[in-house]
Parts: sequence; structure tokens; C-alpha cells
Amino acid sequence: MAAAMDGPSPPVTRFAPSPNGRLHMGHALSAIVAHDLAAAGGGRFLLRIEDIDGPRSRPELAEEFRADLAWLGLAFEEVPAQSTRLATYAAAAASLRARGLLYPCTCTRREIEEAGARPGLEGLIYPGTCKRRPPDPDRPAAWRLDANKALAETGPLVWEDALAGRQAVDLAGLGDVVLVRKDLPASYHLAVTLDDAADGVTLVTRGADLFAASHIHRTLQSLLGLPVPRWHHHPLLLGPDGEKLAKRRGSPALAERRAAGEDGAMLAQQLRLQQLSLGT
Ligand SMILES: [Zn+2]
Repeated sequence: MAAAMDGPSPPVTRFAPSPNGRLHMGHALSAIVAHDLAAAGGGRFLLRIEDIDGPRSRPELAEEFRADLAWLGLAFEEVPAQSTRLATYAAAAASLRARGLLYPCTCTRREIEEAGARPGLEGLIYPGTCKRRPPDPDRPAAWRLDANKALAETGPLVWEDALAGRQAVDLAGLGDVVLVRKDLPASYHLAVTLDDAADGVTLVTRGADLFAASHIHRTLQSLLGLPVPRWHHHPLLLGPDGEKLAKRRGSPALAERRAAGEDGAMLAQQLRLQQLSLGT
């Protein structure tokens, strides 16, 4: 796999799984891409456990993930899990809130659907209902980023994907996304952006299904004064039916393959070859 960076410093990449389900082939590919890009540039490959999803989080899976990576032949450095960083998330949310960039939203998913929300790049585009009414203090609220206010503050932004090239930030297909969930101190967008900055990640690697999220993350980096990494969104592994392999029913977990005596290093090599044929 070719090195994707042209800067002088060795890249820092990371693999950041959530311990609410076992790792499958798609995860293995993401880990391999991150590992190999770091290795090719003489950099560091980090493991971060994204464990703030309260009741869905199963701590024993973190140990399984470490064993899975070792089985694939990927040496890693582990950095603090998300659950150690709740104060950082709260401080960032408070700062954005104080600047009037967030507003509370008490809508349920159903209410959003019934309000005639249009499909966007990441599910439905929030129709802005709560922007136009006072918050109901009796209902739990999420906090959404006001995309128009954010853009007014940041001005035009760009970000760089190693495969897709230079991208102009465009939030139109995403709308006002949730940054603080009703049940958690941060959404994926806020947590991952702060974590990557805290961990010194300079090359964010992940599947192409998360490409659109980078428009939000680049915006948050600007709003919060965080360093701007480069990105590498890799093609997803697809099954013969064209379905995302990670989601395929019946596809065995890495831990099951490992327990069955399969050779992890050989599997990793096969994934690398398949990925090369996809043009990475
Ligand atoms: Zn709402």
C-alpha cells in the first residue's frame, strides 16, 4: 500500500472500535489500512476504544479487540478510551453553546420523520423544528450544531482526502447534526474530533461510508481551534451480493475465525490484496 502523506512528519493513524459488538472483516480492513499507512510512513498506529455508549458497551470486548489486532499481525499503541474524556466533551459543548452555535432539540425520531425531513448524506436532514420554538424543559434534549451560524463563523473551509483529493466543506447534505446526544455527553462527531486532536492523529482513516462526516469534523476543528489532520477514506469491503461485508448476516466475527484456528496474518494479507484491486 502506498504511503498517502506528503508532509514531513511521520503519520499518526488510529483504529477506534466501539465495544458494543464483535469485530468483523470490514473492521479488519479499516485496522489494516490505518496500520499500514502509519507503518509506510514510519509513524504510529493507535488503538482507541470508543466506549461511551453506556448500556450497549461491553467492556470484555475491548480485550477481544486487542487479541484480534495481534492475531492479524498489527502492532498498536493504545490510547485512553473515550470514557476517560467526558469532561473534555462537556467543556467543548459548553464553549459552543456559550457562543450560540448549539440549540436544544427534543424531537423524537418519529417527530423528525413526520415533519417531512428529507434524506441526506447521513440519514434524515433535521428540518429545524426546535430552532423555531422555545425548548420544552420537561423533555430530554439533544444539542444540535446550527450549521448556518457555524458557517458564518468559519467561512469557507477545505479538507484533504488522500484518495478523493481536496474537498470544500459543504454542510447542506447534513443539516444541523447532533453534537450532544440525549443520553450521552457527546455524539460520534464531537467525540471523535476531540479524541483525534487529543491523540495527535494526523491522518484519519476510515471507511468511505463516513466520508460526509468529515465535513462536520473539519467545521468543528475550525470552531474549536483544533489541528487539522488529513483524511483517507478507504473503499468498503463488499460481499459478492454487493452488500457491506461488515453488516452481512452470518459473516463470522474475527474472534470466531481466530478461535477456529484460522491464520490471521494470512487473512490480513488477503484483505490487503483485495483492497489493492479496489484501487487504494
Ligand atoms: Zn427538535
